[in-house]
Amino acid sequence: MASVTLRYFCYGCLVTSATWSVLLFLYFSLGAEPGRGRTPLQHRSQPITKGLVDGRAGRRPLPANKGVELSPEMGMIFNEADQDVRDTGYHRHAFNVLISTRLGYHRELPDTRDSQCRDKVYPPALPSASVVICFFNEAFSALLRTVHSVLDRTPTYLLHEIILVDDHSELEELKDDLDRYVREELQGKVKLVRNQKREGLIRGRMIGASHATGEALVFLDSHCEVNQAWLQPLLAPIHKDRHTVVCPVIDIISADTLSYSPSPIVRGGFNWGLHFKWDPVPPSELNGREGTTGPIRSPTMAGGLFAMDRKYFNELGQYDGGMDIWGGENLEISFRIWMCGGQLLIIPCSRVGHIFRKRRPYGSPGGQDTMAHNSLRLAHVWMDDYKEQYLSLRPELRDRSYGDISERVALRKRLQCRSFRWYLDTVYPEMQTVANGNKQQQPVFINKGLRRPKVLQRGRLRNLATGRCLVAQGRASQKGGVVVLRPCDPRDPEQDWAYDEEGQLVLAGLLCLDVSEVRTFDPPRLMKCHGSGGSQQWSLGKSNRLYQVSVGQCLSVAQPVGPKGYVSMAICDASQGQQWQLEA
Ligand code: UDP
Ligand code: MN
Repeated sequence: MASVTLRYFCYGCLVTSATWSVLLFLYFSLGAEPGRGRTPLQHRSQPITKGLVDGRAGRRPLPANKGVELSPEMGMIFNEADQDVRDTGYHRHAFNVLISTRLGYHRELPDTRDSQCRDKVYPPALPSASVVICFFNEAFSALLRTVHSVLDRTPTYLLHEIILVDDHSELEELKDDLDRYVREELQGKVKLVRNQKREGLIRGRMIGASHATGEALVFLDSHCEVNQAWLQPLLAPIHKDRHTVVCPVIDIISADTLSYSPSPIVRGGFNWGLHFKWDPVPPSELNGREGTTGPIRSPTMAGGLFAMDRKYFNELGQYDGGMDIWGGENLEISFRIWMCGGQLLIIPCSRVGHIFRKRRPYGSPGGQDTMAHNSLRLAHVWMDDYKEQYLSLRPELRDRSYGDISERVALRKRLQCRSFRWYLDTVYPEMQTVANGNKQQQPVFINKGLRRPKVLQRGRLRNLATGRCLVAQGRASQKGGVVVLRPCDPRDPEQDWAYDEEGQLVLAGLLCLDVSEVRTFDPPRLMKCHGSGGSQQWSLGKSNRLYQVSVGQCLSVAQPVGPKGYVSMAICDASQGQQWQLEA
């Protein structure tokens, strides 16, 4: 898969940091294409309460979590071993595994539901659920946090079982250690199924479903955390009408800081490139009294987080088993649900967090573009003449073979499904508007307007070891420019830093101080502010250190200061070279 598009894309980035968010949203929804990467790990989860060891300064416990707020210092690097966990983790999993490991398998989450959700009552008799979690080379801590979040937040009588499907992972930690953990710590409710070869998430979920015996199936990714009372609101609509398929709202777990934040209420759409996208909810769907807490009909689902009646899953044709590894299956099942007599709903009162990575850290075994293969299959089975819309965007795929689809075509006939035209007219009329060349409406962010984060402090940023100030090496407006130390000049507007409530350090009102999450040896640079924390999130504490939250290190001056006055990131210590003062 040479180019991938994240299906869920980070909506929460938009919420946690409203200002730049709409721009960011537009950038991604218009098709930013992240890229890929991967190796064995020695470290294993250690609950934060046990206190971690600082290799240099003796035993020093990390700050504990304050309630649901993560301590910004959760990712602090104390020694080379920490650095290795972090860097290997990014390489292998594309998120901050050091923080994930320190969080352990249980944590509190902010209740992101609308307050009205807490007053809802659900029928006591609901279908029992089999939760299916398929994984390939998942980080041990993330997988176990997913499992425990389900065990911790699901009433026992509703949870029939959890089925883990290991899609032939290569990581050692997922072998004997996982067997042992499941056997010794998760007796009873959790089954572990191992694929003998890599199947991909589509056949993987089908395999999981075939082992399930609960009345409803609930699919989750292996890096999720379910929130308060997440399951009842999903099961109730299935109970009412077994041809209803439901999705929770997918909250955001930051890949860089693991912080959990709410997503706005949006619904699923797609474009003619057959990429999933989020759309605003049309006012007609915000049904009256229930406001934004009632179910919302959605033309498509984002991916692997949904629930449906188990028998209905089988009747409806499960998934297309001819699809490989990743991609397209979410649109395929969405079209099939609607066209063959079901309905797909998003349930705002059900919240499940998902780690949104900037790239998918795995490829397909043969290096094929499985998204294109899968999309071709779904276009040929479900889209009638509208497949031309896709093929005209991807002419190189016209002659590409996509395997045998006869069974799926027969399924469509057997289920007497409606036409794609009907689907577009009835379920996704917004798509027609786009096809006619009209401009698409922009999403409405509920409760959030365009807002710049509040500036907490501003002034020159003086380094205490050198008495010099941090400035751009070139012009302050130069994107990608590095920062250096120069003599302080109170009249120079290009020495003016603003430190805001999002933890951003903005120079001259223009660019943000940014550190690459993956190349932490690179010096910090000035980049366009992206408003989603992570690489641009700094904490300026009482110790005068400028701590970078996702990198886990402190801004430091190179000693002795050469004429060029370079700065770099370094393991935090008490030296003067790491002390900074923001002075007006
Ligand atoms: N997965 C799998 N086999 C694969 C690829 C993915 O079992 O060949 C699992 C993966 O570990 C995750 C789920 O399928 O739990 C969805 O994949 P991913 O999270 O990479 O998709 P995204 O969230 O990026 O759309
Ligand atoms: Mn995922």
